[in-house]
Amino acid sequence: MRKFLLAATAALFAQPLAATPPLPVPPQPPKLLVVIAVDQFSANLFDEYRPQWTGGLARLATGTVFRNGYQSHAATETCPGHSTLLTGDHPARTGIISNVWIDQKVGRSDISVYCVEDESVPGTSSTAYKLSPRHLLVPTLGELMKKKWLGSRTVAVAGKDRAAIMMGGHTPDQRWYWTGTRFQTDLTGSPVPAVVPKVNAAVTAAIAQARDPLQPTPFCQSKAREVPIEGGGKPVGAGRLARKAGDANAFRASPEIDGDTLALAAGLVDELKLGRGSDPDLLAISLSATDYVGHTYGTEGEEMCLQLTELDREIGDFLKVLDSRGINYAVALTADHGGKDVPERERTAGVPNAARVRADLSPATMGKALVAKLGLTGPGLLGSSPQGDIYLDAHLKPRDRTRLLNAAVAAYKADPQVAAVFTAAQIARVPVPTGDPVNWTLIQRARASFYAPRSGDFVVFLKKDITPIANTTSYVSTHGSPWDYDRRVPILFWRPGFVGTTVERPAETTDIMPTLASMIGLAVQPGSVDGHCLPEPLGTACTH
Ligand SMILES: [Zn+2]
Repeated sequence: MRKFLLAATAALFAQPLAATPPLPVPPQPPKLLVVIAVDQFSANLFDEYRPQWTGGLARLATGTVFRNGYQSHAATETCPGHSTLLTGDHPARTGIISNVWIDQKVGRSDISVYCVEDESVPGTSSTAYKLSPRHLLVPTLGELMKKKWLGSRTVAVAGKDRAAIMMGGHTPDQRWYWTGTRFQTDLTGSPVPAVVPKVNAAVTAAIAQARDPLQPTPFCQSKAREVPIEGGGKPVGAGRLARKAGDANAFRASPEIDGDTLALAAGLVDELKLGRGSDPDLLAISLSATDYVGHTYGTEGEEMCLQLTELDREIGDFLKVLDSRGINYAVALTADHGGKDVPERERTAGVPNAARVRADLSPATMGKALVAKLGLTGPGLLGSSPQGDIYLDAHLKPRDRTRLLNAAVAAYKADPQVAAVFTAAQIARVPVPTGDPVNWTLIQRARASFYAPRSGDFVVFLKKDITPIANTTSYVSTHGSPWDYDRRVPILFWRPGFVGTTVERPAETTDIMPTLASMIGLAVQPGSVDGHCLPEPLGTACTH
């Protein structure tokens, strides 16, 4: 945890932080489940940095490590990814098909719908929204725990509101998320815990100060090499995450915010006495900085190295707080999706086909060209990216919609940067896939994040190693593809004293929920969720 926050919240940590004790495995099931999502933490990064860890990630890696975990679906974005973690279901079942989808019947000028908004509230938009879990169609683990144990509490703390909602579900006791300058909640009815204004005051003071460059480890220094970026962006690769006074965006794309998120989580553990009642509690944490660092600088430079070094330390400090409280806890750590590096650097690292998407593949440009060609009016195609869901303008007559759909599918399919195009009708005919996610076909991956009322009229998948960002003045790198660099994520389970192994067999993020349920003795009806309990982290057979 960052020193300034430890100092600022010293009163909360009245007991000293003890060194990690060599504890035996507690004989009783854990009383606190801590589920940590690290946003954009690909399995490729986990594998690469595993020898470097010395802190919390090193400790968690002594537990059970599924190094081939999968966010199996195609729409590898934050909201769908987080929706799988504690529901045990693929996005096809959670209903969370992407971060933002298009609803032409929404009844407002903004036809985009944010995954965690209530678009029925008058006067709102997808960017000025009323936060709500209403789009999440299934319950989360915390909801099931509260049904079985009346005293069970669910607390969600996250760098993004959508992460807090997807992990906390419909009935959390506390839900806190970063809103650009501070942590906030939309929940009313219970008093604001004292730790929240304390952390916010510490954060405000920190942002007001400039931040010195971080000091790289020798490993991070070895990664420092400036790479030019196509598409208008600044070079990346040799930055040390220094920040000007008052720059809240730079604060967000740095390890500082993860430290603050963990400090807030630790403070809530103390104040709410999580894990110390007779019924088990759930603490869901989503750490967003890795995602913002990846988007801003790519994944293979000095910047990401500094971020992951700090993340390891921050998680270690957080676990030491839990140790020092004598709580019987278990941790699961994973990611909402993976990610990949900028193509400019990938080309120098043995990926000769890495490239940026051509701007003319955007739905707006493609739609305009096709509308002119077919003699139609309007935008024709709606969508924010040439990767993923694309919608047909609903104002067109049915016959013209069919003509446009056929023309758009043909045009995208013929493009050398496109791997595959599937219509909604084609995807709907495929059963939701099961079994080894490694071998799923592209259309099966699409099916796992397809929900007809929200999905596009067709979906476009760019070829592997094509980055769907042409203009790099904002972000230089991203995720969201059906390829394994975006799907494959680490899944770690840890309990005090439980020495686990690294498992090569693939697992899915949907398996986390039934595994944790089995760990605490909560029955999950067979077939009621997509995931399956994993026995290795339990050290015994699954109970369901
Ligand atoms: Zn992202």
